[in-house]
Order: sequence, then structure tokens, then C-alpha cells
Amino acid sequence: MSKKNIAILGSTGSIGTQALEVIEANSDLFQVEVLTAQNNADLLIEQAAKFQPNAVVITNEALYDKVFAALDPLNIKVYAGEKALGGVVESDSIHLVLTALVGYVGLLPTIRAIKAKKQIALANKETLVVAGELITQIALENRVDILPVDSEHSAIFQCLVGEDINPIEKIILTASGGPFRGKDLDFLKTVKKEQALKHPNWDMGAKITIDSASLMNKGLEVIEAKWLFDLKAEQIDVIVHPQSIIHSMVQFEDGSIKAQMGLPDMKLPIQYALGFPHRLKSDFPRFNFTDYPSLTFEKPDLDTFRNLGFAFEALAKGGNMACIVNAANEIAVDAFLKDQVGFLEMSDIIEKCMNTVSFIQKPVLEDYVQTDAETRKLANQYI
Ligand code: MN
Repeated sequence: MSKKNIAILGSTGSIGTQALEVIEANSDLFQVEVLTAQNNADLLIEQAAKFQPNAVVITNEALYDKVFAALDPLNIKVYAGEKALGGVVESDSIHLVLTALVGYVGLLPTIRAIKAKKQIALANKETLVVAGELITQIALENRVDILPVDSEHSAIFQCLVGEDINPIEKIILTASGGPFRGKDLDFLKTVKKEQALKHPNWDMGAKITIDSASLMNKGLEVIEAKWLFDLKAEQIDVIVHPQSIIHSMVQFEDGSIKAQMGLPDMKLPIQYALGFPHRLKSDFPRFNFTDYPSLTFEKPDLDTFRNLGFAFEALAKGGNMACIVNAANEIAVDAFLKDQVGFLEMSDIIEKCMNTVSFIQKPVLEDYVQTDAETRKLANQYI
């Protein structure tokens, strides 16, 4: 395998820092070309000093001077602002772009990277949720692979290796159920962010942890799976599997089911995407069956956790509906993290936006940008 040059969008977040651990452990295979961060200038500077990329972007322009002063003497180019993200990914020296940004902000740089024919390791699921039809279309036109980093989608992707000629009957996405599995509406009415941020199995960023607690994360992943694997809504099942050992499954037309298993550790799917098609040797802790004498499965509770149902509705409706759900959810989660709305009110905000924002059946890029802005404005009014 020849050395791969990698750009990491969102290098200071949970996925970004774990990706750098993978790269450091495989420095004969990977070289860091670009690092970007939104606000964490100190960590970005530390990472850049260590990995010596060509360029960095600090999205928050107020932090430019600080980053420039630290990295210019090291001959590292420093850019600022969201727009700069789209430019740095086009550099000739880059082979693969890991999109580890959180939320809608990943959309435009991902489009630029695909058009520049970079391989994409996609950890920014919102990009496919917002504009899956457009993204898969331009990826096809530019013959760009989209390699999933999300653990469930990586599992499905791994199950499909060698199965090119065999149609998928359905996929089974597993969900941990999050910290509030089995709880009722009365309980959820009063929960605070501190409780929602305690995920039983996975150590992740704040936004995705809240999404996991509300099952919105699984809803976003259903939509992500539709686009990654070209599926119909009826071909996607969700099952709650509290141990998070089976990361997801594929059922083929002969009835056979393949599963991908392992301890819940994001470094594994990150490394699989970066190293694909190779499996790289790792010293990650190994799964031991006798430590888990029972793996259990249950139906998701859609009456209590309404967001998962909204995602299936958005999938059935098509057009810009998933973009509406995503934008409303981003605003709702942000408000919940600021103690401005309760846990259940997040679903109310999403539902109101789905019923109110103008529906567009065949959106183009400008429509997604417009829908996102309109939905954010409206959602903020409901807070
Ligand atoms: Mn996931």
C-alpha cells in the first residue's frame, strides 16, 4: 500500500483526535496534509506542530492571529473562516479527505472535495442526510468512493465486501438505545443534559451523544444508509442491541445474515476507512465472547422516541424533508445543551418545522442552502 496523504476536517473533535491516533500508529502508511478546527486553537496548534501538515484552517476567524503566530514559523500555511475549508481540500497533494465536522457545515467542503476527485472517509453523516441524492450523484460522476466511518455503516460496508453481484434483501442497523432506553415520557420530560451526555457504550462528541439519547442519531443513520447503499426505506430495519457488539448486519436474498462485530471503539471503523481495502494490524483490545454471555435485542420504542419515526417519514417524503429534519434538530440540540428547551421539546421543534417549512420535491444545491437557513430561523422562533 502506497502512502496516503490525508486531510482531516474537524481534527480536534472526537473522530479527528482518534483518527490522528490511528495515523500516528501507522505513520509509514499515512501523512497528514491538512488539519482544521472550529474553535479549539490550542489543540489545533499542538496537532499541527506534531504532524506537520501543509496547511491548517481555523474556522473561527477571531482565532486566526493566535494560530498564525504559532504555526507560520513552522512553515505551515494558516487560513481562517468556513469558506477556506472548501479550498484546502482541493490541494493536489491530498488523496483522502476525512470529513469529521459536526452538522450541516460539512456539506459544501465535502462537495468541493468530491469534485476535486478526493476519496472521502465520511464521518459527517449530516452531509448525506441533508443532500444524499446530490452527493451520491456527484460522487458517481467523479468516480469517488465514499467510505463510511460511522460504525454501523462501516459494519454494513464490511459485510458487503465480495458481495458485489448479490443484492441486499435488507440491512439491520443496531442501536444501543442510549442512556434512556426503557424510560417513559414522564421521566424524559425532566431529564437534563448531564444525564443525556452519559452514553453507556460510546465515547463521542456532545451533539451525537444527545442525538443518541433521543434516537435521532439512529434516524440520521437510517437516511445515511439509504444513500450509501442505495436502499428503499422498507429495506432498513432498526433493532436495539444494548451491548453494542454487533455493529450492524446485512441480510441477503437467500436469507443468510452477515454481521460485523467487535468492541465499541471508533478507532476500528476509522482505521478501516483510512486503510481500505487493507485491514491494518492493530493492538486494539480484542472482543472476548465469554465476557458477554448474552447479546440481547429489542424493538425500538417509537412512541417515546419520536425522532426515529420522523426520520422514516422524511425518507418516505423525499425532497428537502431530511434537510428540514436535520436543521431543526441541530438547532434543537444546541438549545437543549444550553438548557433553553427540555428533552421532549426537541421533538416538538422538529415536528413543527417539518409541517411548516416549504417542501421542495426536487431540490438543487441552492434549495438545500435555502431550506437549511429557513428551518434554522423558524426553529429558533420555537425556542
Ligand atoms: Mn453510528
